[in-house]
Amino acid sequence: MKLYNTLTRQKDEFIPLTPGEVKMYSCGPTVYNYFHVGNARPFIVFDVLRRYFEYRGYKVTFVQNFTDIDDKVIGKANDEGVDFNVIADRYIKEYYVDADGLGIGRATVHPRATETMDAIIDIVQRLLDNGHAYLAENGDVYFRTRSFADYGKLCHQPMEELQAGARISVGEVKEDPMDFAVWKAAKPGEPAWDTPWGSKGRPGWHIECSAMVNKYLGPTIDIHSGGLDLTFPHHENEIAQSECANGCTFANYWLHNGFLTIDNEKMSKSKGNFFMVRDAAKEFGYETIRMFMLSAHYRTPLNYSADSLEMSKASLARLYEARSNMEFRMEKAAGDTMTVEEAAKCEELGRYKQKFIEAMDDDLNTADALSAIFELTREINAYMGAHQDATRAWLRAAHGLFMELTGVLNLVQKREDAADPEADKIEALIAQRAAAKKEKNFAEADRIRDELAAMGVTIKDTRQGTQWSRA
Ligand code: AMP
Ligand code: ZN
Repeated sequence: MKLYNTLTRQKDEFIPLTPGEVKMYSCGPTVYNYFHVGNARPFIVFDVLRRYFEYRGYKVTFVQNFTDIDDKVIGKANDEGVDFNVIADRYIKEYYVDADGLGIGRATVHPRATETMDAIIDIVQRLLDNGHAYLAENGDVYFRTRSFADYGKLCHQPMEELQAGARISVGEVKEDPMDFAVWKAAKPGEPAWDTPWGSKGRPGWHIECSAMVNKYLGPTIDIHSGGLDLTFPHHENEIAQSECANGCTFANYWLHNGFLTIDNEKMSKSKGNFFMVRDAAKEFGYETIRMFMLSAHYRTPLNYSADSLEMSKASLARLYEARSNMEFRMEKAAGDTMTVEEAAKCEELGRYKQKFIEAMDDDLNTADALSAIFELTREINAYMGAHQDATRAWLRAAHGLFMELTGVLNLVQKREDAADPEADKIEALIAQRAAAKKEKNFAEADRIRDELAAMGVTIKDTRQGTQWSRA
């Protein structure tokens, strides 16, 4: 498999540290709000990367963090007059509601910064001990950027150019404008942790990821990923800290997804040009958003518009329709052995699997992988149409291949009837109810059940998940 590596600026053959295993880390959300459709892009594409590795037989250890302490979390807590933990707990729960709806699997570990404080303090102490960091007079700890000769290797900018952009503002206590905070001394009223170097405070954002990678995956990992905007300074700083603390390469492959845009501008909270996943799901359905995200290669910009979402919704409906036709025919058909002609056709269909794998092996090209799935679907539909007597054995094989490939992308796997005009909304509510139940919030789960009942929908919880039907 080839992956575009920001570090080398080319598609590199993926060679894991340990044969058959992948250690990957992706920067997760800062939990002070629901996440928007732009944030959903890395969560979805790196979930697909992980699923694809698993499909190809790798054992994957995947870590995605929650940044649960930072200025924005504290700001929101102060606005509401509650503890910062209340805010973080709330939006971690809400993250899972949307992630479940979007078909994003749970990472192996989802560490929170505040639960990793020992590892954070340990790495800061090591940087202080070996002279790559220093304690400033106000209690902040700064990374001595010039002490790391490779600084700038990820963003491919020489130190002098990066320096031109750096400034020391009034009241700052850094030795050099390039230095950045790894530890921030406590301000009155802010949450703070004790440290061996004596200044109570909280971690900088970059050190958090360095420490979590180290704690859960070790000093060197295969893949580190995140949105393109994280390349500099966040990932550059993660590399500097980790490599200076551990004396070895931090990550072999750096993957960055392109921006989700709106009117061709990056979707972002600060610009206000965003849609919460929650709201977009009410309009188009969670699975449509996933389909939309995978319709483009992850490194290209992708523009969000109602038209493109409608198109993705229609594509998804076509796949569901093909699936339900196959299942209907499978139920009715006879014949547990394929005819000679069917066996030949079956073998022919195998070339779409080949195409799918080639696309995914080429830097996770989900757009081409989806094309292979659509071609496969067209072939199956055409064959079924022309052969009303197709055997159950053939239908099973075709259906199996279809479910296998769509399954890698985690699309078209739901059992519910997607032809219902309100299917998307119903599925969104069912996902939110399942999450509420998982959190033991039974009042909310019951409220959602009532809302569904008012829509004329009855639900049945089964071992395979929640089935619904029109009353
Ligand atoms: P944040 O919660 O802001 O730290 O962002 C979480 C993730 O979303 C990071 O990997 C960001 O790079 C990514 N991200 C934020 N905005 C966008 C966007 N418009 N398109 C793609 N990725 C984004
Ligand atoms: Zn990070």
